[in-house]
Amino acid sequence: MITTEIKMRRCRGCGVIKPLESNYYGQWVYPKTKKKYFNYQGKCKKCISKQNVKWQRKNIEKTRDFKREWGRRNTDITRYHARKPQRKEYMKVWRKENPDKIKQYNFYRQMNKHHDITEREWKSCKEHFDNSCAYCGISDGMAKERYGNYLHKDHADHDGSNNLNNCIPACKSCNSSKHNFVLEDWYLESESFSEGRLNKINNWLSSEYKKHMEGKSVTIKVSLD
Ligand SMILES: [Zn+2]
Ligand SMILES: [Zn+2]
Repeated sequence: MITTEIKMRRCRGCGVIKPLESNYYGQWVYPKTKKKYFNYQGKCKKCISKQNVKWQRKNIEKTRDFKREWGRRNTDITRYHARKPQRKEYMKVWRKENPDKIKQYNFYRQMNKHHDITEREWKSCKEHFDNSCAYCGISDGMAKERYGNYLHKDHADHDGSNNLNNCIPACKSCNSSKHNFVLEDWYLESESFSEGRLNKINNWLSSEYKKHMEGKSVTIKVSLD
């Protein structure tokens, strides 16, 4: 069981109660001598930003000086931002010249898509499919031999959850062939289609996975600071 506590704060500007976390409150402070730190304020980010804009409009000279001074102290950051157009142009050319690398990169990114699955859950999942690709039936060892990679976690529904109820072991070949197609649409047309395997997949996705899910219920406690 996981317990998460959410602290809330009532904004002193707009009066709305918002979670006390960096999306809503606080900012990085860069002191001249000390290391930067994160500071929560009484007003929410929206109110602070409105307040800053108002102040800057009234104090144009001071704002300009401050920005110049900040830039002088943070040359690495300003230089990085100043070179953004060059970097973009460079990447554009590089992409055109290296289509294979881009393809490979996208493939690995797809393969490493986030899954919230424990080691034990993954083991049970593979066992349900006899340690072979759920789609073509190739064994874990053969997959490694033929495609250079062991079976990995495929999202049955491309845009579905990262949990066990959407996880299927697949070889590299099936995974790239399935891409982001709807499972049934792709599988019924696939060369490796087998009714037995489709039944096994449906059985896993509809109920079998439940037997292997590990307790991951999350309790959220809300408190006002
Ligand atoms: Zn506010
Ligand atoms: Zn396969």
